[in-house]
Amino acid sequence: MAIERTLSIVKPDAVGRNLIGEILRKFEAAGLRIAAGKLLRLTPERAQAFYAVHKARPFFQGLCEYMSSGAIFVSVLEGENAIARNREVMGATDPAKAAPGTIRKEFGQDIEQNAVHGSDAPETAAMEIAFFFKPDEIL
Ligand code: UDP
Ligand code: MG
Repeated sequence: MAIERTLSIVKPDAVGRNLIGEILRKFEAAGLRIAAGKLLRLTPERAQAFYAVHKARPFFQGLCEYMSSGAIFVSVLEGENAIARNREVMGATDPAKAAPGTIRKEFGQDIEQNAVHGSDAPETAAMEIAFFFKPDEIL
């Protein structure tokens, strides 16, 4: 299996509840290496650009308001099969349906405020990493 990189975001609800460390610990325990990371706040416009793929969805406006409501911690995770591995550790989008032990099951509040974002495919991972990081910020 190839070494991949994927984009992870600790979302505002989780940052606000002091969960950055708990969440990063789960990634590291799953064998994912943190190759880049920073704390920042998205403007509503930047949140809309990041989630442009969802702009026709009924949850788009609420999602962009939420994602710009406070600080987020963005990171690049690297490892074998990192994109799928990260999504396994995250769990299902809806915390109520997420498997035991997953981040969303333990820390997600509802289907919107679900603690973490993770890229879903190699193409989106590359785009999302470039959205937040310059090549020389990834080590
Ligand atoms: N979301 C929402 N309502 C929904 C589905 C999704 O508020 O019915 C939010 C949620 O925060 C989710 C994000 O929109 O993480 C992106 O949705 P996607 O389907 O890409 O889920 P993910 O890839 O994050 O599991
Ligand atoms: Mg998605």
